[in-house]
Amino acid sequence: MRRKIVAGNWKMNKDMKGSVELVKEIIQTNKLFGCEVYISPSFPFLNEISSICELTPIKVIAQNVSEKSQGAFTGEVSVDMLKSIGVDGIIVGHSERRKIYGENDEVLRMKLDNCSKNNLEVFFCIGETLELREKGKQNEVIENQLNNTLFDLPDFNLDKLVIAYEPVWAIGTGKNASSEQVQEMHQYIRTLLNLRYGKSSDSIPIVYGGSLKPDNSKNIFSCPDVDGGLVGGASLNPKAFLDIISSI
Ligand code: PEP
Repeated sequence: MRRKIVAGNWKMNKDMKGSVELVKEIIQTNKLFGCEVYISPSFPFLNEISSICELTPIKVIAQNVSEKSQGAFTGEVSVDMLKSIGVDGIIVGHSERRKIYGENDEVLRMKLDNCSKNNLEVFFCIGETLELREKGKQNEVIENQLNNTLFDLPDFNLDKLVIAYEPVWAIGTGKNASSEQVQEMHQYIRTLLNLRYGKSSDSIPIVYGGSLKPDNSKNIFSCPDVDGGLVGGASLNPKAFLDIISSI
C-alpha cells in the first residue's frame, strides 16, 4: 500500500508568533493522524518549528532550496543549511516559483538532483495552466514537465519522492479540479512513472493540490490514484487543516 500524505504549505504567511501558535494548535488536538502530516513554514521559522515538532509525527519541509551547494549566492538557502536544522524535505517546482520567480526546467532539474543526492524528501509540483487545459494540452504539459526534469536524472532516489499534481488554475483560486479531472490526471502520471521507472514507481505517492478544503477533500481523496493533498490557504487554519487530514 502507498503512503497517504497531507502537507500544508504556509507560503509567505505568519510571523514567528503566528507560526508557533499554528503548529501548537495542530499538535494539541491529540488526534491520531490517519496519514503522514507535513507542514512547510517560512525559512526563518523552520528551526523553531522543527524543534517543536521533533517528538511528534509531524514532518517539517521547506518551501524552496537553492540549486547550488554553497558560495556567493546572496539570499539563497542551501540543502546543507536545511539539513543542519532538521528539515525533512523540500517543495520543488511550485507554480508560484515557476511563474513569479522564473524557475525553469533546468533549474528545477538541478534542485531535484541536489535534494536527491543529499537524501532529502522532495514534493515535486507539476501542473498545467488554465489556458493549456482549455486547449486540451494538460497531458502534454505534465509529460514535458517530467521529461525535462525528474525523468532526465539517471538515478533519482524514488523512496524520497512525492509528486504533487497542482493545476495552476486551481491554486489559491477557490476553484478546485473536479474529482474526475484529478483522477484522470493522477492515473496518467502513474502511467508515466511506470513507463519511466517500472514497478518500483508503484510506491511513489501522488498528491493533489489546488483549493483543497474540508468540503471537497473527502471526494478528491476517495479517487483511487490520489494519495493525499498539498494544502495552501486552508492549512493556515488549524481546524480546516485537521478536518482535511481527517477526511483521508
Ligand atoms: C499550493 O499552494 O500548493 C496550494 C495548493 O494552494 P491552495 O490550497 O491555496 O490552492
